[in-house]
Amino acid sequence: METSIPSSTENIEPFSDKSIKEYLDSLTLKSTELKILWLKWIPLKVNAFAWRAGLDKIPSKENIQKCGIYLDTSCTLCGYTLESTDHTLIRCKFASEVWNKVMN
Ligand SMILES: [Zn+2]
Repeated sequence: METSIPSSTENIEPFSDKSIKEYLDSLTLKSTELKILWLKWIPLKVNAFAWRAGLDKIPSKENIQKCGIYLDTSCTLCGYTLESTDHTLIRCKFASEVWNKVMN
C-alpha cells in the first residue's frame, strides 16, 4: 500500500483526532472489516483490545501458532480445546462465568 508524504508542511491543514482515526482506518482496514468503535467513555486500551479481538489479532495460542511458533494450543484455563480468540473471550467456561457475573 502506498502513501504519499507531503514534501513540505505549507499545505497541511489542521486535523482532528477523528480525521486521524478515519485515515488510519482507511489505511489498515478493508471496507468490509470491523471499524474501530472509538467510544470516549471506554478506556483507549479497552477500545484497542476490542478492535484487535474483532479482527482476530490478539495473541491467542492459535494465532501464535499461525505465525510458525509451535506450542501446546490447548486452552490455558480449561485445557480442553484450541485456544482461539473466540474460545478465550466467549466460549471457554471460565470466560462464560466472568460474562455471567458481569451481566448479572
Ligand atoms: Zn478454555
